[in-house]
Amino acid sequence: MSLIVMKFGGTSVGDTDRIKNAAAKVAAEIKNGHKVAVVVSAMSGVTDQLITHCRAISPRFDAREHDAVVSTGEQVTAGLMAMALQQRGLNARSWQGWQLRLLTDSDHAKARIMDIEGDALRARLDDGETGVIAGFQGVTEDGRITTLGRGGSDTSAVALAVALKADRCDIYTDVPGVFTSDPRIVTAAQKMNRVSYEEMLELASLGAKVLQVRSVEMAMRYRMPVQVLSTFANEVGSELPGTLVIEGTKDMEKNTVTGIAHTSNEAKITLARLADKPGVAARVFSPLARAGISVDMIVQTASEDGQVTDITFTVAMGDWERALKVLEDEKANIGFEKILSEKNVTKISLVGIGMRSHAGVAALMFETLAAKGINIQVIETSEINTSVLIASEYTELALRALHSAYGLDAA
Ligand code: ASP
Ligand code: MG
Repeated sequence: MSLIVMKFGGTSVGDTDRIKNAAAKVAAEIKNGHKVAVVVSAMSGVTDQLITHCRAISPRFDAREHDAVVSTGEQVTAGLMAMALQQRGLNARSWQGWQLRLLTDSDHAKARIMDIEGDALRARLDDGETGVIAGFQGVTEDGRITTLGRGGSDTSAVALAVALKADRCDIYTDVPGVFTSDPRIVTAAQKMNRVSYEEMLELASLGAKVLQVRSVEMAMRYRMPVQVLSTFANEVGSELPGTLVIEGTKDMEKNTVTGIAHTSNEAKITLARLADKPGVAARVFSPLARAGISVDMIVQTASEDGQVTDITFTVAMGDWERALKVLEDEKANIGFEKILSEKNVTKISLVGIGMRSHAGVAALMFETLAAKGINIQVIETSEINTSVLIASEYTELALRALHSAYGLDAA
């Protein structure tokens, strides 16, 4: 008998019929002989609506009260799911974050999990009860309700699986798994059967939205197998129909590239004709860091005359205007001639643990893009990813060409 954590996202519990459908999946796994702890998200759209209410009351709301409000979406679904399970004759009970005690720090709206006191829940599971846990929420040492950031129910589910020493954490969503690239753009994209933690972490950080990044970090740290699968398919998780996120193996390194992610959510900024002397990069990036703006790709061009150089970097679209303002304010201190900036850029990233052991991976990328006449603006590499920045208008062309060049197209 294994213990499985089954997590249902917003679309999987989007209305009462869908909650009943999810309950049927839980019942099927129990019938298969597994113990189950269920983690639920708010019904789709509910969290957005709750945030809108907070903003309507005050643009500068109190973060603790914000969490008191937005955590309620999950409370509702947990109760409804417990009822739906009871309706099927199962012994089920809901748990809020504070009832479990899922302890977090007090960084409201993006709290980090410190500890889960899972013993009471575990004892009930051993007695044949099915626990339904409200995702996304926790409680501080001093009893205030917190939330874990958008998409945080994924992290609740993985953390609970770790605390309960579950065999696997199944994340039920509206797609059949993790794809080699965005299937809405690349029709030849395929569902992966397996992907390593490290690759999934890169893919999630680089734009694949299927799992919250923190949940992947947590799974990787504790080596918890996670499966991403569809609520709307006939199979259940123990039949392993989805994508398993697991420890990488030698045989997974055979492919150089496992997946291709992209994000159009970045903007490019170039500072032209900066003095080429010690301390300049610090004068550019320290004020941005103080303003809480993270910088992603960075290139500094070699100086032709040893006097001046250019620095180009990218920031999240949401930070773009603020970044320009910070730089303008610092202009005298930094000392540059002008700022050039560009919003319509896309970052395309090849990800694969096989890159470590294969040469020429990046070269094929550059050749493929060149053959399509696509100009590369910035290049960045790490051990298991190679990323380029291109004009957004070429996103589809580039993704499809690369997907095929790396042999990822469905047969
Ligand atoms: N309901 C929360 C959100 O919409 C948490 C989650 O669904 O994972 O972000
Ligand atoms: Mg989600």
